[in-house]
Amino acid sequence: ATPTAIMVGIGKGAENGILIKDAVSLELAQKVNAVVLDKTGTITEGKPVVTNSYWTDESDLLKQILVTIEKQSEHPLAEAVIKHFDDNNSIALDHFESITGKGVSATVAGKTYLVGNQKLLLERKIILSQMLIEKANQWSAESKTVIWFSDDTHAIAAIAIADKIKETSIEAIQQLKESGIAIYMLTGDNETTTASIAKKTGITNYKAEVLPEQKAVFIKQLQSEGKIVAMVGDGINDSTALAQADVSIAMGKGSDIAMDVAKMTIISSDLSKIPEAITLSKQTVATIK
Ligand code: ADP
Ligand code: MG
Repeated sequence: ATPTAIMVGIGKGAENGILIKDAVSLELAQKVNAVVLDKTGTITEGKPVVTNSYWTDESDLLKQILVTIEKQSEHPLAEAVIKHFDDNNSIALDHFESITGKGVSATVAGKTYLVGNQKLLLERKIILSQMLIEKANQWSAESKTVIWFSDDTHAIAAIAIADKIKETSIEAIQQLKESGIAIYMLTGDNETTTASIAKKTGITNYKAEVLPEQKAVFIKQLQSEGKIVAMVGDGINDSTALAQADVSIAMGKGSDIAMDVAKMTIISSDLSKIPEAITLSKQTVATIK
């Protein structure tokens, strides 16, 4: 496209809440035939709230330990836990450790506690009671994310966290599919929760329990099949995938790192801006012909 067409396109984008950093992305967006979407904060609101919890031991001390550990984490799920259980009594802990894509751990009075997904607990050979497993399965089937809290031998609690699908996500996904674009959803969340969200949003291609680097590998694979890939994400954990994609799109309400890496930002974090960006790209390129 001509420099003038590019300038006009970038200007129109800005007016519509689509910030475009470079000419290449604006020109390439119309060729995109695969869109990879992160789940949390991209398809969903990214405002998780605790809806249920089941404790094998209702002690206040254990709740304080949980909250104190989560206060060390920057994960949005941790924020939901703190909001729900915090009573402003903090506890001394040491050896805090973040386990990428799985959770966190810390030691309190010589005992190690874990907060994270079921996979993390199983890897550490923690014993899960039948009751907790039943609760967790039920909540996951309701699209909720379940996080687990354990000491060094037994699971203590399962906590259900809900994060609403954005009202505009379903229609935007439908619109992209109708224009012949393949849609993929990638998330670090578990299989059951992810399958439930996929069903509600009409997504048939998805992958759960994906680590941040694996998101980038997935995109590379699509590219090797000849696809022109757009990646849409909001988190620090999406930045390698954003860097790998042909067109990278960050959600404006997400992390600064995602916006730094991405060449486009949707200020409102609304997925319906993705088809708009593609249309804008088409108009921009059409100007030269
Ligand atoms: P995503 O943001 O796509 O869900 P993450 O890799 O950030 O992916 O997290 C994957 C999973 O790890 C979460 O769904 C959760 O089960 C667990 N997890 C990560 N950090 C925490 C934390 N601070 N507290 C509880 N669970 C966590
Ligand atoms: Mg996210």
